[in-house]
Amino acid sequence: MEAFDRGLGKGESPIFPNLVFRLKKGVNFDEGDPNYDLFKLAMKVAAHRMNPTFSFMDSSFNAKYGDEISYMGCRTRTIANVNGREVSAGRGNIAPVTINLPRIALKAGKGNIEGFYKEFDKVLELCTKQLIHRFETIANLKVKDLPFLMGQKLYMGSENLKDDDCIREAIKNGTLGIGFIGLAETLKALIGKHHGESKEALELGYDIVKHLREHCDNMTKKYMLNFVAYATPAEGTSGRFVPQDRKKYGLIEGVTDNDFYTNSYHVPVNYEISIFDKIEIEGRFHSLCNGGHISYVELPSSLEHNVDAFEKILKWMAKCDIGYAGINFPIDECKTCGHNGIISEDNCPECGSYDIRRIRRITGYLSTVDRFNDAKKSELEQRVKHC
Ligand SMILES: [Zn+2]
Repeated sequence: MEAFDRGLGKGESPIFPNLVFRLKKGVNFDEGDPNYDLFKLAMKVAAHRMNPTFSFMDSSFNAKYGDEISYMGCRTRTIANVNGREVSAGRGNIAPVTINLPRIALKAGKGNIEGFYKEFDKVLELCTKQLIHRFETIANLKVKDLPFLMGQKLYMGSENLKDDDCIREAIKNGTLGIGFIGLAETLKALIGKHHGESKEALELGYDIVKHLREHCDNMTKKYMLNFVAYATPAEGTSGRFVPQDRKKYGLIEGVTDNDFYTNSYHVPVNYEISIFDKIEIEGRFHSLCNGGHISYVELPSSLEHNVDAFEKILKWMAKCDIGYAGINFPIDECKTCGHNGIISEDNCPECGSYDIRRIRRITGYLSTVDRFNDAKKSELEQRVKHC
């Protein structure tokens, strides 16, 4: 963490590796815990570099797995297993699929909750079929097709496989993720308000995601494969679905009038809400999305000089049963002189250089702004800061 804090050559923020700091009571979470000093250091580094992110080992759905559970840095969570040991190491998500939830709501029409669920069930069936098809395709590959992952016995279950064996016995330990995008726009389309705006919408949103999770649990029993509910990061789909839906259903306020759909169950990024309310609302969805979840808060600037406030946010996250979270703020760096902070002009206030690197976190990993697609750039511009 000290090396990460120092940065690269001229002190630039490292984009990778993506550090995840695991929080646990009795280990590092509270003052007096043996590694509380490391938690303090992690917060100091995160308040400077946006990494580490934080995962909560005591949340209701993580606690039972002890120290075996860990998150992949983008949000993926692989742990439950109907075919073998329940650990995160040596396994992964085999295939994800993302449901365009707003499309289902638009098709059903405003107020038609029953019609929505009917169509939702059809789409869930389709997703299941698609994942089974992908699983079967991959399962028929041979160990010799994947000489590193399977040949070197890195994947759980590949230990006793021979070169000409199919990899089914190994990848049945992986997960099949059914994800979704745009819960907020879905609720807008169905009842005119999203889950940040009204309690009724929050309850309906919770029921929708719970329905998806129950489907995954049922399919897990039916097929003896690990189906999981996934809060899709949607790097590509966030901008892809909206133009299609706008063309078909027209310009609808709060639904198709933006360049992107909101990430999974997140409260819309342009909605004014306090940090604490946002965390409380999104916290309810972490336990449902067992295949991966993340929540963010957006700060106007770094909390480098106020680590206490940083800690307050993380403690509240723990109270709201959050599993995994990141605290975001803008990082601008001058590539010429190494100046670091928020650079609001086009050039560096220290040396005048126009060679500026702007680092943001919009999905899972850090990235520089010039690498975002148009939808993600638009989302970035609309993000309001939480106070
Ligand atoms: Zn400079």
